[in-house]
Amino acid sequence: MASGQAPTRAALVEQARDIYDDLDFGAVREWLADHPGRKAVGYLPVYAPREIMHACGLLPVGIHGGGDRLEIIRGDAFYQSYICHLPRSVIELAQSGRLDFLSAVLFPSTCDVIRNLSGMWKLLYPEAYVRYIDVPQTPDTGAAADFWESELRRLVHDLGEVSGHHPTDTELRASVALYNETRAVVRALYTARRERPWDVPTEELYVLLRAGEVIPADEFIAMARDYLAAVEAEPRRPRDNSRVVVVGAFCEQPPLGLIMSIERAGCYIVDDDFLLGNRFLMRDVPLDGDPVRALAEAFVSNDLHTSVLFESDPLGKKRLMKDCVAAANADGIIFATPSFCDPALLDQPMLRAGAEKASIPCIAFKYAENTGQFQQFREQAGTFADSIKLWGAV
Ligand code: SF4
Repeated sequence: MASGQAPTRAALVEQARDIYDDLDFGAVREWLADHPGRKAVGYLPVYAPREIMHACGLLPVGIHGGGDRLEIIRGDAFYQSYICHLPRSVIELAQSGRLDFLSAVLFPSTCDVIRNLSGMWKLLYPEAYVRYIDVPQTPDTGAAADFWESELRRLVHDLGEVSGHHPTDTELRASVALYNETRAVVRALYTARRERPWDVPTEELYVLLRAGEVIPADEFIAMARDYLAAVEAEPRRPRDNSRVVVVGAFCEQPPLGLIMSIERAGCYIVDDDFLLGNRFLMRDVPLDGDPVRALAEAFVSNDLHTSVLFESDPLGKKRLMKDCVAAANADGIIFATPSFCDPALLDQPMLRAGAEKASIPCIAFKYAENTGQFQQFREQAGTFADSIKLWGAV
């Protein structure tokens, strides 16, 4: 590319795909080599406060397992067969030395599997800082904000010890502003896809977001803005596809081939819960006042409903899909859930009952992040898309 020339969509997607494909985390290793004395901190799904990691001078790195690109040799020895695939894949990455650059790893509370994984990490890698992060799960917003604030302050302190840099309030505020910008550009990507899914295919959006889990926030913001500009410059023609919401993939991520199969079967994915941590806080975190308290209150006053958070409204789960489909102007729902994912599979009957009561067409299937055969998903999604177009329901 000539200097000063805007990058093309193809070049940006290829760059993001290379980062996504690289199980050795070359982009992180390069950043560490270019920043002597600095360190990297890993975080597992779903939500971890990247603002605090950044303010402490650390590079936040999302850890999502090796997908269908990693053969599990050692990881299976750590987990029984009726557990989701993510933890064995993460252990495999670690035991093969691919995560040896991490000075700290955060395990946000989602389920017992992640809690156990954090315990294993402590035993296997005693030199790393390891923390299981309990997020507040109570309808009492005052107590929740106080609890989360104290957890965040502990993280500020502990990660400051790891990096050797204890951030000032001004630095914390600057990091909050940076991640407000990150969330804003992710919202812009999702809005563009909802409005013109033929222009923003999910297979492109997804690899961009995966790259954003690994590269510094300011580089991701620039990449995403370039992509949005390239989309405007290279519009595509719409197809007669059905618009679907994909639900259930908030933690263990589906293989890219599964996302591509859904789209190629005639579905436009117009909303999803992939990489949900990117969009967990739905509004900007205020930049005035105490930045840690502001982060805590933003979490507590957030509107997001997900299987890893307590739902205080007994009818909330039943209403959720109707609201979600209306907001996305979707025709139907694909429940795509990791095998053995307790939070997703326990919620699914309630979510699906609410959707069916609202006459929203639904299908459901299960995957593992290392699923390699997509024909059956393609046939199911294709039949679903056709039935929506022909009859509006299945
Ligand atoms: S995929 Fe589901 S069961 Fe597995 S670690 Fe994530 S939330 Fe827990």
